[in-house]
This record gives sequence, structure tokens and C-alpha cells, in this order.
Amino acid sequence: MSKGKRQAKRAPKNKVNEEQAIESALNVGVKEAADMESLAYAVRGADIAEPIPLGVVPDLEVLPKTMRAWVIRKERHGEPMKSFQEEVMPVPDIGPNEVLVLVMAAGVNYNGIWAGRGEPISVLDVHKESYHIAGSDASGIVWKVGSNVKSWKPGDEVILHCNIESETHTTRTETPYDFISYDPMASRGQRIWGYETPDGSFAQFTKVQAQQVLPKPEHLTWEEAASYGLCYFTAYRMLITQAQLQPSEVVLVWGAAGGLGVFALQLCKMVGADVIAVVSSDEKAELCMELGAKGVINRKHFPHLMFRHGETEEEKAKRFEDMKRFGQSIWKILGERRNPNVVFEHVGEATFPTSVFTCSRFGRIVICAGTSGYDCVFDVRHLWMHQKRIIGSHFANALECLRANELIRKGIIKPVLSHTYSYDEIPKVHQIMYENKHSGKMAVLVQASQLGLKNTEEARRAAKSLQARA
Ligand code: NAP
Repeated sequence: MSKGKRQAKRAPKNKVNEEQAIESALNVGVKEAADMESLAYAVRGADIAEPIPLGVVPDLEVLPKTMRAWVIRKERHGEPMKSFQEEVMPVPDIGPNEVLVLVMAAGVNYNGIWAGRGEPISVLDVHKESYHIAGSDASGIVWKVGSNVKSWKPGDEVILHCNIESETHTTRTETPYDFISYDPMASRGQRIWGYETPDGSFAQFTKVQAQQVLPKPEHLTWEEAASYGLCYFTAYRMLITQAQLQPSEVVLVWGAAGGLGVFALQLCKMVGADVIAVVSSDEKAELCMELGAKGVINRKHFPHLMFRHGETEEEKAKRFEDMKRFGQSIWKILGERRNPNVVFEHVGEATFPTSVFTCSRFGRIVICAGTSGYDCVFDVRHLWMHQKRIIGSHFANALECLRANELIRKGIIKPVLSHTYSYDEIPKVHQIMYENKHSGKMAVLVQASQLGLKNTEEARRAAKSLQARA
């Protein structure tokens, strides 16, 4: 599809509470389905112009020309309730190494908020399309494969990881450093699907590279399967590959009840490391203890701990006092004067000075984000005198995703899905995340008509029984 051609048509929008929204989305889907069913199911092998109804899994031969999607455009950058608007968009074309997937459920991530706000940059300036469909996690059904794709076929039930590799990895390198371990994450063409590319998962169909496709764990529902990839695979690379976490080490995890945090916690437990979890509420503390934390610190008990630019000498002194008290509360949990070997960082500016200060001698601070800001200020003496290391990390490569997904398939690591919302609530669920009112992961249903469905057969049966009831 050429750039200018992706013209939009506004689609209807509902705004109700969670249960009502799911119910109403289902009803909308079902009513539409009543009209569309004869068309969608009858037109085997032919294209149909209108989007298929939500909540319906048609025959594999049915390929509509258009689809429903939540779209961000440059002129509406801002908070999620403003930036996400529903439109009817063309179903993406695929290339020879790509796969088209019918999205059954999509996972919600913070990058949808960054994309909507256009901060720190507008992602539309990165991929240079006039539209942006966010969404970097999904479960779904392979609908169509490119001519070179041998590993997947239409009908396969899958999840998607979000690392797009440069197709010209070997020719786009400019220095020998581009070949570090042949890790595709080192490639200059590396992109995050649904963030740095425009065709993400908040739509009925999405397109990905074949290497992004992973088998859906059969024991999980569509919504559980859609929920974990981005955060879990990132936490896996941070702790297992980058920090090389060892049994019996101590790990300080900021935001431990959040998307990254719940997986960091489980990975540490799997390796045999002790986690000191940091959260901002008692409810979140409870979740961390359930997931196996050694102890939890509520950061609200340290009112001066967070760094902010422009602090006065007095504020700085108070922050230093809180940093020391914070460190002591770690010793109290551990029962000994021991500092964390690894600090799991993603908050950035606000917490980074504490992370560097608190980390043990020869310890590692592994960081993948700066939610509170990017200009990290810290006393570098705490770093060099005790020979600590700061390690940057970004998502994960296909091999890491595959290995991490096997741990989910075996039930060793579990999704932590706190809420599932309806397709209509995609802006609202991002707003909830933006306001830090959630815990764990959140997902939305797209073509799955109700919660709890695990495969194509169940999804088709559920849609038909809803239609019969309508
Ligand atoms: P999340 O679900 O919102 O969790 C983040 C947690 O951080 C929150 O639960 C909150 O916990 C804590 N937090 C937020 N602001 C804080 C502050 N000022 N001080 C201390 N703690 C604070 O988000 P997520 O999915 O874990 O993602 C976190 C960040 O990582 C986002 O910026 C995201 O874009 C980024 N990320 C990057 C990658 C990558 O590949 N580079 C991958 C995944 C995510 P409490 O309020 O309970 O303390």
C-alpha cells in the first residue's frame, strides 16, 4: 500500500465500563455478524470490501480489503484518550518474508502512550507514514504467508514478538561492531514492530516478519497469550543475557508490580536470586509477595527519594538521607548489610541516583527505559570507586524470545494479566496505564468474542453461540 493511499473513514466508538464494554463490543460484533455472516462465510476465496465484524473468525479464505483499527495521527498527539481514534483502514499487504495475522487479542504496553504523545519524538517521523497503528503484542491466527515463508501456514495459532530485523542485516553494517555476536539487535535496521513501524496489533489484522512469529502456548487463553511478550522478553534479555544473573544474588526491582517488574520477579525466582521489590501501594506489594519477592519496599515511605532537576541543596541533602534509609530497609529485609548485586532499572531520571548508590561493589545496573525522564544525574564516584557497571538493554532477539516463550509453554513463567478490556476501550486502557492505575499486564479482545477462549475452534464456536443468542 502506498503512503498516501491509507485514507481513513471514522468508525463508531463506545465509552462504557469494562463489563458493559465487553458485552457491548460482543453485541456490536454479533449484530454486525448477523448481517455479515452470510457474506463473509459465503465469499470463499474472494475479497470483501468491508471489515469483518469484531468477535468473528471467518473461513481462512476470507480476506477483507479493509479492517477496523485504532489509529494515531500527528495532528492528534497527546494523552491516549485524544491520540487514539478508530478508523477503517486497508488490510496491510505482505512481502515475501512476511505473515498476515488475524489479531485475536492484543497486549497493552507503555510504547502506545509514547507513540500517542509523540514524545520524545513522533514515531510518524521515524516510519514516515501518515498513520500509526500502535500495539506491539498480539495473539492470533496466521492468515496469509509470503512466498518465502516455510515455517508457518494459514491457520497456525501464534503469538508475535516485536523485534523487526533488518532484512539487509549483513549489507547495512558500516563497522565491525555491527556484527557483535551476530545479534540482530545490533543491526542498524532493527525496529520495534507497532512502535517504529506503522502496522501494529490494535487492528483486526497485522503484518509481521516470519521470524517474529512464535507458537501460542496451548494452555493459555488468547488474552493471556497476547499479554506478556514485549515486557517479558525484555526482562529476560536484561537479566539473563545482559546482567548474567546468578543464583543467590540479590536484585532490586523498581516498579516490581508493573509490566516489566512482574516478569523480572519471576525470572529472578527461577534463577534462585532474591528480589527486593519496590512499589507505590500495599496492593502492589501483595502481588509482589505472591510472585515470590523476598521483601517489598513502598517508595511512598521515602518522600524525598526521587531525583528532580533543579533541586536545592536542602532538597539534595534530604534525598541523600532518604537514599541511606532506603538502603537500610534493604538490609532489614535481607537480615544482613548486603547491597543488591543487580538493579533492574526502567524508571530513569527519578530513581537512577539511588540505583547507582544502592548497587553493590562490582554490581550491575541494567536499564531499558526512562519513564520519568532521560537525563540521569548521579554521583559518578559511587560508580567508579566500587567498580559498578551500567548496562543498556533493549527488547530481545528472536532466539531469546523463543527460549523465554518455552518457559511460558512449560508453565515455569506465567503471564500476570490483571484486566482484559474490549476493543472499544483501547484508548481508555492506555489512559489507565498512563495514570499508573494498573498492575501487571493488561490486554484487549479483538477477534476473540469473549474471555477464556484458547483456540480457533473454541473462538468459532463461541461466536456462533453468541450469534444464535442474539
Ligand atoms: P508499567 O506497567 O507502567 O510499570 C512501570 C512501573 O514503574 C509502575 O508500575 C510504577 O510502579 C513504576 N514507576 C513509574 N513511575 C515511577 C517513578 N517516578 N518512580 C518510581 N517508580 C515509578 O510499565 P512497563 O510496561 O513496566 O514499562 C516501564 C517502562 O519501560 C516504560 O517506559 C516502557 O516504555 C519501557 N519499556 C522498554 C522496553 C525496551 O525494550 N526498551 C521494553 C518494555 C518496556 P510503582 O508506582 O508501583 O512504583
